Amino acid sequence: KRKRDGEDIEKLQQSIEALDPKAEIKEFSDLPLSHITAKGLDASRFTTLTDIQSKSLPFALKGRDILGAAKTGSGKTLAFLVPVLENLYRQKWTELDGLGALIISPTRELAIQIFEVLRKIGRYHTFSAGLVIGGRSLQEEKERLGKMDILVCTPGRMLQHMDQTVDFEVNNLQMLVLDEADRIMDMGFQSSVDAIVEHLPKQRQTMLFSATQTKKVSDLARLSLRDPEYVSVHEAA
Ligand code: ADP
Ligand code: MG
Repeated sequence: KRKRDGEDIEKLQQSIEALDPKAEIKEFSDLPLSHITAKGLDASRFTTLTDIQSKSLPFALKGRDILGAAKTGSGKTLAFLVPVLENLYRQKWTELDGLGALIISPTRELAIQIFEVLRKIGRYHTFSAGLVIGGRSLQEEKERLGKMDILVCTPGRMLQHMDQTVDFEVNNLQMLVLDEADRIMDMGFQSSVDAIVEHLPKQRQTMLFSATQTKKVSDLARLSLRDPEYVSVHEAA
């Protein structure tokens, strides 16, 4: 595997292991992150963690499953994108390893937003990332799928590919993210998500984020989470 940026990944790994997940870290610079993610966050002007990020990032960076709830606008996107970048980076992931992370979003618009944040904070990484949301031909999407490390998708379109694209390798997948899991359920995507998850390896990290803690979300969680860390942020009174 290729060496990256002269970064001592073993040392980074040790710092992650030593990290106290309840330390309530306030700044990105106090988290054990790769130089290139730190640089991407800095260039995007992210310095201070939001509450949900502070509560969930240490657990997520340690590879734990997460069930996170915090209202819209609280910063959930970075709570899963930073661990996606870091956990694949520490594994020296390349597209030769197949798809490393899959992020499922309820709508095309939200998927595009996530993808844009990923491009911003991940700008110094060498990962290939793609959107699978329809709107271009299935064939065209198909050809690019096999070369992706990270995909942001909508459930229906993703399932279409999993059923039809032959050399789409998901057996190595390390991380699954369901963003706006409550909306995914409300929009009736449960069976699509179930079918997607059936294609994925059971040994993986799963993170679910939503604006509310609903019964429906825990139905989804029952399918895919292992000893999850429950993280929620309530509005101050
Ligand atoms: P949510 O998914 O919880 O609705 P987002 O991830 O979309 O929230 O973030 C909401 C807004 O807050 C975005 O404009 C984002 O750029 C900004 N934001 C997120 N995290 C931080 C941070 N650590 N520092 C400053 N702004 C942030
Ligand atoms: Mg969001």
